[in-house]
Amino acid sequence: MKYSQIFLDLDGVLADFTKAAAKIHKIELPSEMEEDFLYSKFAKKGHFWSKCNSHEFWANIPRYPWAKDLVRLVDRSGINFTFLTKAPMGTGAWSGKARWIESNFGAHQNKLWVVRGDKSIMAQKGYLLIDDKTSSIEGWRERGGDAFQWKELSADNTEQAKYYLEQVRRLIS
Ligand SMILES: [Mg+2]
Repeated sequence: MKYSQIFLDLDGVLADFTKAAAKIHKIELPSEMEEDFLYSKFAKKGHFWSKCNSHEFWANIPRYPWAKDLVRLVDRSGINFTFLTKAPMGTGAWSGKARWIESNFGAHQNKLWVVRGDKSIMAQKGYLLIDDKTSSIEGWRERGGDAFQWKELSADNTEQAKYYLEQVRRLIS
């Protein structure tokens, strides 16, 4: 088997953080999603996070339409997998993300790893990361891991999601 472990990112891949944050701030999103759209334009300000810090916010982020298909695909590959996500300290993100996994992927609720810092310390040969962020992908590869960039999509871009699913299927089968 090509990989011994798969790490699945949450926000931007399975969980539509951008939609939830844009809704709470009444921000209009571009029809074509741009990487770091919210971060580059809005999230540098403290008040941005003060509205996105509660357990309820993180627990109720919408799931992307393809999320179940992606998790099923990874689960059926027979390769061990773990959800791997970053969370800001001292916020409801930690418990909220655990609740989100319980609600959306209850059968896999023991597979959640939440980290504070750089995900790439987990990277090693044979470990595949599926993540939306270019910086995470690059860091992971620099440490010898393999990575697939699932660029953040608008929830209605199911065509591109189908294409990504097919690429992931080929990669892990
Ligand atoms: Mg992400």
